[in-house]
Amino acid sequence: MGLVVQKFGGTSVANVEKIRNVATRAIREKNAGHDVIVVLSAMAGETNRLIDLAHSAAESPDEREYDSLISTGEQVTITLLSIVLNSMGYRARSFLGFQVKILTDTAYKKARISMIDTLAIEQELKKGSIVVVAGFQGVDEENNITTLGRGGSDTSAVALAAALHAERCDIYTDVDGVYTTDPNVCAKARRLDKISYDEMLEMAMTGAKVLQPRSVEMAKKYDVPVYVKSSFTDAGGTLVTKEDKEMEREILSGITYDRDQAKITVVHIPDKPGIAASLFTPLSERNISVDMIIQNASSQGFTDLTFTVSKKDMKEAQKCVEATAKDIGAQKVEVDDDVAKVSIIGVGMVSHSGVAAKMFKTMADEGINIMMISTSEIKISCVIQRKYTELAITVLHLFLHRPD
Ligand code: ADP
Ligand code: ASP
Ligand code: MG
Repeated sequence: MGLVVQKFGGTSVANVEKIRNVATRAIREKNAGHDVIVVLSAMAGETNRLIDLAHSAAESPDEREYDSLISTGEQVTITLLSIVLNSMGYRARSFLGFQVKILTDTAYKKARISMIDTLAIEQELKKGSIVVVAGFQGVDEENNITTLGRGGSDTSAVALAAALHAERCDIYTDVDGVYTTDPNVCAKARRLDKISYDEMLEMAMTGAKVLQPRSVEMAKKYDVPVYVKSSFTDAGGTLVTKEDKEMEREILSGITYDRDQAKITVVHIPDKPGIAASLFTPLSERNISVDMIIQNASSQGFTDLTFTVSKKDMKEAQKCVEATAKDIGAQKVEVDDDVAKVSIIGVGMVSHSGVAAKMFKTMADEGINIMMISTSEIKISCVIQRKYTELAITVLHLFLHRPD
């Protein structure tokens, strides 16, 4: 029997009672003969509370201290679980990121894992321990504590599964699998038995927060089978894996939304070479990711350029773009954070024409105005007014999943 990595999210460890439930799930795998590593998030709401605390102390908290602070929620849950397991007669040991050591770069708030030293964990597993690791955190070369971005415990779990060649990585959460769309928004959402890494990656990147995008990237790279399961029932589950012939070849596998979007427009810029580079280079130097970009057709030597960033980056992006806009002779910068992105995803779109037209018509029929569009081989995304998000998801789900 090989190694199993189990990850439990915030709602699954929200109090000691729920942590006892986690303990029984870990023990079940252990008694079945597996080595077990459990990766935990902080209790539901705790990371938000810590973030608010940091911002109540200073408008722009020092990033090193901020990461040290917001990583503390996980220390509470891993130690509580280990205490529970020990009290139930099972040997268990908790590890913080630096104790493992989960080495990352120094990009605070969105650090990337570069290496995991597996020795300490392997020694504990050999002794028969259930190893309990704090998700979401790592340590850089200089011993500074770093965090991996919101939802980062998924990535901690998959990274550990990859580094220790686990048989599988089970992600336990508050829904019983990956659905065609967020089941908490659309009652008609359908659970998928299997989904390919590529489709799951697009879904995660466009807002389906059930898995952090980097965890899917890593699972694909190291071929880790990931099962998304419910912490509260044994039914259901979704396997995230390589695309295979048996997989349902639906045109569409999922519909996603992302309300964490802000749209920035630079108005009336002289249309000449180098303009885009001068706008986007300072953003990338500040580690701000730009998502969709559109540049309007030039008229009399001037153009408008619109792009989206994550809401949390909006203020910094605006400051940065306003400075450049002055230098390049743009008229003004407009910001709109009352937007959302809705996306449809499916590998089958490659070989089916007309899906985009159907998507646009579905939204037009409901009077939803599309502000921006972007496409890839397996995805179409539209930026719309935020208040239409649920309506868009519901009608797109109805129309696009209706058998032809
Ligand atoms: P955890 O705290 O366990 O990490 P998250 O809140 O990060 O849980 O992710 C689970 C949530 O993801 C669900 O409660 C659900 O609302 C949301 N979600 C969004 N899209 C989907 C989808 N397509 N399938 C399943 N869940 C989804
Ligand atoms: N506790 C962290 C967060 O809320 C990490 C996670 O839940 O995966 O983002
Ligand atoms: Mg999560």
